Amino acid sequence: MSKFSNFNFAGHKALVRVDFNVPLDASFNITDDTRMRATLPTLRKILGDGGSVILMSHLGRPKEGPADKYSLKHLVKHLHELLSGVEGLGGQTRVFFADDCIGEQAGLTASMLKGGEVLLLENLRFYKEEEKGDEAFAEKLGKLGDVYVNDAFGTAHRAHASTAVIAKFFTPANRMFGLLMEGEVISAEKVLHGAEKPFTAIIGGAKVSDKILIIENLLQRATDIIIGGGMAYTFMKARGGKIGSSLCEDDRLQTALEILEQAKQKNVSIHLPEDSVIADKFAADANTNTCPSDAIPDGWMGLDIGPKATGIFNEVIGKSKTVLWNGPMGVFEMDKFQAGTKAVAESVAAATAQGAFSLVGGGDSVAAVNKFGLAEKVSYVSTGGGAMLEYFEGKSLPGIAAIKE
Ligand code: AMP
Repeated sequence: MSKFSNFNFAGHKALVRVDFNVPLDASFNITDDTRMRATLPTLRKILGDGGSVILMSHLGRPKEGPADKYSLKHLVKHLHELLSGVEGLGGQTRVFFADDCIGEQAGLTASMLKGGEVLLLENLRFYKEEEKGDEAFAEKLGKLGDVYVNDAFGTAHRAHASTAVIAKFFTPANRMFGLLMEGEVISAEKVLHGAEKPFTAIIGGAKVSDKILIIENLLQRATDIIIGGGMAYTFMKARGGKIGSSLCEDDRLQTALEILEQAKQKNVSIHLPEDSVIADKFAADANTNTCPSDAIPDGWMGLDIGPKATGIFNEVIGKSKTVLWNGPMGVFEMDKFQAGTKAVAESVAAATAQGAFSLVGGGDSVAAVNKFGLAEKVSYVSTGGGAMLEYFEGKSLPGIAAIKE
């Protein structure tokens, strides 16, 4: 593979896989363009070098072929606005659209693209071949450019035609990660393979079952694992605690005990929340109280970590040199139950200010650092929810492997 920043794109047609799967309202206005903005540095570099860009993406989950609702044509105007003002191009970036991602028109437009011009292809998932990882389809896409750039970390865990299979139609020198993807890969590798100790993983969220694999993998690497959120109560019950009507996966009690046992053997400290903020119903206007997490009265449920737990977690995070955070400590969407997640976000920011490397990933923890205005105060915020989770489960991601091979 080549290193993106060392590559001179002058005279090249770069086929760039991006994640433009943005939310649209009923009138097809983009309601959050974060994913489009995230890939701008990559596009600016290619265009600034004098190369041309052919963009491939999916949008939504079209079931049966083309559907207006999922057309990428709705993004063209905004893409043009975002790209205007690219240095050296006098703000005149032309953006073309091909209403089929393969076929004659796409081929012709791609072949006629000049340096500094952009072609956006129609939704890849209008072809079922995309998600099936069909080789012939990937080869057709591959013919549109002479360099392949993957900047879509969010789909790196999928062996789809445009995210993985296509890479083999380019020589190693002509395939690379874009800047967004490179940032994700470097941060994730730093935490998984080069973490400075003490390394604390903070795992929260609703279900143990979603996070078993990541916890098991982290048991090989972390010095401390903090477990918060709804999943903590399965551990509490497994240890013989009373958890009232808190969230619990009864079929995972044995798994929880095994995780605690493995941690003991590997000398990894698992920190469960000593106390909880409890509520008499799952609602923003519930009555609340605080009690030990293993002595929750009947009819009450733990919806946030309590003040003692917050203090202990803060200490553990404060002495860490590496922090990975996935999943909230409580139902942070409701004001009454956000304090624990907010305090953890602040602890991670404080540790970062003192030199720790911190990586926050997974939809809800990213939403939390954004909600508390702390996204700029952690080392890296990962945009790839599912991909990030699979990476930390220790799986090889097809999108990464295909570029590196
Ligand atoms: P996940 O997608 O598994 O990371 O879970 C995130 C969701 O877990 C958020 O919507 C939280 O509101 C929810 N959550 C966190 N703590 C609790 C809890 N103690 N009880 C119920 N739900 C929770």
